Amino acid sequence: MTRYRLPDGRTFSVNETFYLASCDRCGWVGSTEKCGTDVNTDAGDSNVYCPKCHAAGADCGKVAETAVEITP
Ligand SMILES: [Zn+2]
Repeated sequence: MTRYRLPDGRTFSVNETFYLASCDRCGWVGSTEKCGTDVNTDAGDSNVYCPKCHAAGADCGKVAETAVEITP
């Protein structure tokens, strides 16, 4: 379990093998565990979809990039 903190003070816990994602469209932030993935892509690089508005690209959301890992 890894914990992240955003500049606005919100914290998120992410389980092993997942990472913090966010949606630029609706502002959702959370673990990629909650996102569906598109496994049928030609490029072999599946998209991460926002679980709230289903926009693609949640894996590279701007908000998640500002999060810092909280070390105990
Ligand atoms: Zn969204």
